[in-house]
Amino acid sequence: MNIVGGGLAGTLLALVLARHGWQVELFERRSDPRVRPGERGRSINLALAARGLRGLAAAGVAERIAPLAMPMRGRYIHEHDGSGALHRYGQDDSEVIHSISREALGRALIDAAGAEPRIALHFDMTCVGVDLARDALLFGDDGKVRRRVPLAPTIAADGAGSAVRTALATAGAIRVREEMLAHDYRELTIPAAEARDLDPHALHIWPRGGFMLIALPNTDGSFTATLFLAREGSPSFAELGDAPAIEAFFRREFPGALPRLPHLVRDFRDHPQGRLGTVYTDPWHLEGKLLLLGDAAHAIVPFHGQGMNCAFEDVAVFDALLARHADFATLFAAFTRLRRPDADAIAQMAIENYLEMRATVLDPVYQRRKALGVALERAFPDRFIPRYSMVMFHPEIGYAEALRRGTVQEEILATLDAAAGAVPAPGIPAQARALIEARLPPIGARA
Ligand SMILES: Cc1cc2nc3c(=O)[nH]c(=O)nc-3n(C[C@H](O)[C@H](O)[C@H](O)COP(=O)(O)OP(=O)(O)OC[C@H]3O[C@@H](n4cnc5c(N)ncnc54)[C@H](O)[C@@H]3O)c2cc1C
Repeated sequence: MNIVGGGLAGTLLALVLARHGWQVELFERRSDPRVRPGERGRSINLALAARGLRGLAAAGVAERIAPLAMPMRGRYIHEHDGSGALHRYGQDDSEVIHSISREALGRALIDAAGAEPRIALHFDMTCVGVDLARDALLFGDDGKVRRRVPLAPTIAADGAGSAVRTALATAGAIRVREEMLAHDYRELTIPAAEARDLDPHALHIWPRGGFMLIALPNTDGSFTATLFLAREGSPSFAELGDAPAIEAFFRREFPGALPRLPHLVRDFRDHPQGRLGTVYTDPWHLEGKLLLLGDAAHAIVPFHGQGMNCAFEDVAVFDALLARHADFATLFAAFTRLRRPDADAIAQMAIENYLEMRATVLDPVYQRRKALGVALERAFPDRFIPRYSMVMFHPEIGYAEALRRGTVQEEILATLDAAAGAVPAPGIPAQARALIEARLPPIGARA
């Protein structure tokens, strides 16, 4: 069994396959992280939530990863005037997400895979194509093929820019649609000394309507910040071409954050400006020969903090299916059937969450409805769970189901909010029970 891509999903999948007794050949473009220094500038830390933890548990590495993670209880919203407040993610401290270093996580997974005799790690191996006529994976560099590896079966987990996906699309075997966002991102550093008074157990957001700055904590007390901003127009990255323009923009828009960013201009120069987009692929597999998984099949924008979580959930679902299917053709088909609706749903929710993070969080109507949603969850925990919580804390509810229930809940909240007026009475409105019982069957029950 081959895996192309020894990133987050590919390595986790290798561990799962080995646990099922498979011999795995894992091919990774980069050199061995156990001997090379870390790379910077590409989402240095990630939000890890329940679906990701489920995948880590399936591979037996959850305990190894736990010490690397920093719990975050909520979003700390920094307003332009310098005021701020923590908005909890869930009901209490049991509902948290975790900030984790991409490098430390990737390294820990490679360490685990390296200790597994059934996994052979091949670094510095760049897949440059697929020869469908001869069922071979092609590896090489500078456009030259230097090694051929028999294809069947192969799982491609080579990320958002997947070479395998591109080769299949070029050969006409699959269709691919990429929807690029008009906004890019750039990563910045808040050193520990400048972060002393930032809550280390929160995801910090400086929402500014059309754009935003966010920061996630690291275990060493520093934070990694990310600026999300339009590529063109005003304001945009295109306007931030030199040090005076960068500093003036931050002084105007993020006066509270600027003193925390002593390396702002250097970070702008050294860290690449990343593109963001959603990838839709159809189909995800070629019979029992080849399957795309993780970002290679369904890359999404990062605003729900779910790309890796979704990829890890792919691995957990694959793990469950492995025990049930004797041949790869039916396994790959079952995987695609199960996962595609969920991948499409999280792609949509991730785009919607950008608007929520950069703008809607400041809206008093949103804040009122959010508080009502939390109260409704407390009163009807088996029927009403805020959509964000379903996605982040409830892996037993699929993404597609979270999207569907979330839409119904929004309608209920709008009805209750309109009936209550601008200053709702405290407590649960009497109308709520009737609406919820009529429109939201208990979770897990058939609609
Ligand atoms: C700015 C940003 C912030 C994000 N924040 C979050 C977050 O908070 N939470 C979250 O859950 N997700 C987040 N994500 C998404 C997350 O990074 C991805 O969903 C996740 O990395 C997907 O894992 P993967 O293994 O499919 O792909 P990757 O992690 O990209 O791994 C792909 C691997 O394949 C290798 N590879 C690539 N091409 C080849 C080739 N031709 N041959 C051989 N090997 C190859 C690569 O070197 C890499 O090791 C974020 C993404 C971005 C861009």
